[in-house]
Order: sequence, then C-alpha cells, then structure tokens
Amino acid sequence: MAEPLRISAKNLGALALPDFCPRCFWLKLKVRNRLPFQIFPGIFSSIDAYTKRVVHAWIDRNGGAPVWLKGLGEVTGYINPPHHSRFYIELPEYEILLTGAPDGILTLPDGSIAIIDYKTAKYTGTQDRLMGMYEIQLNAYALIAKHLGIGNVTKLALVYAEPVTDEETAAQPEIHTDDGFSMPFSVSIHPVKLDPDMLEPLYNQARQIYELPEAPDRTPGCKDCERLDELMLLARKL
Ligand code: SF4
Repeated sequence: MAEPLRISAKNLGALALPDFCPRCFWLKLKVRNRLPFQIFPGIFSSIDAYTKRVVHAWIDRNGGAPVWLKGLGEVTGYINPPHHSRFYIELPEYEILLTGAPDGILTLPDGSIAIIDYKTAKYTGTQDRLMGMYEIQLNAYALIAKHLGIGNVTKLALVYAEPVTDEETAAQPEIHTDDGFSMPFSVSIHPVKLDPDMLEPLYNQARQIYELPEAPDRTPGCKDCERLDELMLLARKL
C-alpha cells in the first residue's frame, strides 16, 4: 500500500459528530493533527490511566472486576493494551492505515474480550455530544483487535468516572492523608453496540475529504474561524 492515509480511530469518529466540519477534518489530516492552540489538560489522561491501574490492580488481587464495574458483567482478567505504534490495521482497498490506543481490554468468562474506554467526565448518556465519535472509535478498536488476533471482541463500553466534589464529601475526614487528600469518583457504564460494519462508509468519506486539493468551505457561523480571521488580520504585515 503506497502512501496510505494514516488516521486514528478517534479522528475517523469525528465524521459522526453532529457538528462535523469537513474543513477542520481536512486541515487536521493534512498537518497530522499538529494544529496550534490545541492545549488539552493532561490531567484527564492521567486520571484515565490511573483508573486503568486501579482496575488491573484489583483484578490481580481478586481475580475479578471491582463492584463498580458490575455493569460490564463478569470479568475474568485483563490484557495490557498494546502500544499505539503496534495497534493498527492496513485497509489497502481504501489506502488507509487505521490506528488506535484502547484504554482497557478485559477478558470475559467465555474467552472473548471486552474493549473499554475510560472517560473522566460526568455521564450524560446519549446526551453526550461526542457519543457518535466514541461509538466509531470503539468499533475501530474492535476491528483492529480482531485483526491482530488479540481476541474475539463481544463487548464494548465507555466507563465514565465522574469526580464527586460536593460539600458533604469534601467535609469527610477520610479524604485527608498525611501528604494530601483524595477525591472519590462515581462510575457509570455506557454499553456501546458492537457493529464494525458502521465503519465502512466512513473510510471512503475520509479518503474523499483528504484528497480534496483545497480546504473545503468553513462551517458558517463558526466563531473559531472568525477569530482566526481576526488574528490573521492583526498579524498581517502592513
Ligand atoms: S469552521 Fe470551525 S470547525 Fe471548521 S475549520 Fe473553521 S474553526 Fe474548524
């Protein structure tokens, strides 16, 4: 496959966002996601990684998942998710290299696996504006996991961990330690339908947008693009 379009599962999922902008998509693909002013607080990734360690440590000690993961059903163990540099599938018919980095892979009693993604966020169910993107992302992980022979994926889920920050909780003496304090999280499980076929139409769509010779039109009324225009004007040499 010559010069494939390298796209992450998450970026492919952007095609399913209700406010999807082809111009943004095209720009991100062309500059390989290296856009300016994209500062994402690292604390969320740290908490997601911590949640994974909490789950793995519990399974190591007890052989099953903690009670707060009961929404996933019975769990027998876990598989350390591969590094993103090894988690990909080539799709020569679309000239696409689909990549990803799953947060968690859990083993189930029938020998199959569940792929989960941790979200440090309040759970709002289907109200979550990003839900369409997450569904694509998880189904892409399922496709890649199957291709790599990691296991037969039978379950996908989002695991939301919402910080509990009310006054009553903050007043509990147990949260204090000698060198700091702890914050509890309330967990909600959102099952995601396993349907890798939903990815098929997106490959062509991604490819078509990527191959456009010029950036597509901007979304009318987008404040960010208006601000960019203002910045460009300001920065223009007179
Ligand atoms: S219109 Fe908005 S979403 Fe589209 S490229 Fe401009 S900033 Fe991005």
